[in-house]
Amino acid sequence: MRSTHVVVIGSGFGGLAAAKQLAKSGVETTLISANGEHLFQPLLYQVATGVTEGERIAPPIAEVLRRRRTVDTITGYVTAVDAERKVVTYATADGVDEIAYTYLIVAAGAAQAYFGHDEWADRTFALKTLDDATALRARLRAAFAAPADSPERTVVVVGAGATGVEVAGQVAELARRHHRGAEARIHLVEGAADVLPFYGGKLSAYTRATLEKAGVMVHTGTFVTAIEDGVVTVKDGAGAERDIAAGTVVWSAGVRATPLAGVIAEATGCETDRAGRLLINRDLTVGGRADVFAIGDMTGLGALPGQSPVAMQQGRHAADIIRGVTGPGTHFRYLDKGSMAMIDTPHAVVEPPLGLPRLTGLIAWAGWLAVHLYYLAGMANRVAVLRDWLRAFAGDARPGFAANGGAPQAAPAAPAAEERVASADLGVAGLPDGPRNVPVA
Ligand SMILES: Cc1cc2nc3c(=O)[nH]c(=O)nc-3n(C[C@H](O)[C@H](O)[C@H](O)COP(=O)(O)OP(=O)(O)OC[C@H]3O[C@@H](n4cnc5c(N)ncnc54)[C@H](O)[C@@H]3O)c2cc1C
Repeated sequence: MRSTHVVVIGSGFGGLAAAKQLAKSGVETTLISANGEHLFQPLLYQVATGVTEGERIAPPIAEVLRRRRTVDTITGYVTAVDAERKVVTYATADGVDEIAYTYLIVAAGAAQAYFGHDEWADRTFALKTLDDATALRARLRAAFAAPADSPERTVVVVGAGATGVEVAGQVAELARRHHRGAEARIHLVEGAADVLPFYGGKLSAYTRATLEKAGVMVHTGTFVTAIEDGVVTVKDGAGAERDIAAGTVVWSAGVRATPLAGVIAEATGCETDRAGRLLINRDLTVGGRADVFAIGDMTGLGALPGQSPVAMQQGRHAADIIRGVTGPGTHFRYLDKGSMAMIDTPHAVVEPPLGLPRLTGLIAWAGWLAVHLYYLAGMANRVAVLRDWLRAFAGDARPGFAANGGAPQAAPAAPAAEERVASADLGVAGLPDGPRNVPVA
């Protein structure tokens, strides 16, 4: 059987940061990832709305790590971990294989949660993978090709966390800027009392006012009670129910750990929370094992948000313990550098760290663009995205969207969510979408 010093599972923010940090000490590492790419999730909504192209935000992980000669990459789906034998089992296009490790870092991320209604996954569009973004883009393209008074032109976005706000804002901008004022009815439905509820106050009020000015109908204190083909039923705080006929429903209301969290919990005896996340130790190890670390969105540690800076800092911390830079058992400390959310052009909100004044408007928008450009992998991708932004935000070009609607096209159905498992299988519910932290270390 093949063996390596460290196996890292996942090529997202956490796994990539861990692999890079291990490479600094020349630690022999094998990174196994289901999708074989490093997906920059914060720009998925821009792929869905035609601002940029998918390949710019999902370079192959082998390419991203090509200069780290001690890091090997495998595209494969991990199905089992034997913590006693220290062996990982994974499936590739060529079949099932095993690899032995001395240390294991698991960074398998999160999936959508449907709060006990897994059947809604087939009736809504998610935004977790590149396939999700591409499918939503095709749906929106068809929506704008439909007659203006058709329900096809109605988009319901469920969940007014950062993803929901970004999608609603960009669909409105797509109608206004690219389709030159084409009619589009956009509803943003949120159960909490305000949009971006984790902020509250000035930032939430500004976001709501900006969206409403852009024509988005914001329904706060409102819950989705049913989603059938083409109709979303919502219930407001007073208990009044209404149906919204909509050709497109985007689900951005909750997350839960990926199925691998359940596998790790079983292998190590680690407990999980109601979203299926591993309740890891403060040094990021799992259960009673000093040789298995879990990081990022699939874990719960205090009140840390499921955001990229947490995953990256945790990846480096686990790697530092393994390469002996930090002592075994050292507690992880999160350095909060603030958070931000995009609304539309040129509006965003920023919550800086250390109680500094909150920012809105053009300066926050420019800050959001600068930070996200900086953390995108690869100089060529950054240049290409910058060019796309200039075309989309200063002009009106959107790759994949014909000017003024184009010819009518068949509307694709909502795809099934990737890696979806029945909530009952995991015994989990899900967590609301949190704030968008600055994707910095
Ligand atoms: C639409 C959207 C927008 C976001 N915007 C922001 C933002 O602006 N700022 C911010 O800070 N955060 C943002 N986030 C959150 C951020 O992307 C996550 O917190 C971050 O990706 C978590 O990193 P991770 O390494 O834990 O998981 P991920 O980055 O999700 O990576 C998980 C990896 O595990 C792999 N994997 C899963 N299961 C298996 C398996 N069984 N076998 C092998 N591989 C497996 C996947 O293929 C993937 O490579 C956003 C998230 C979304 C969905």
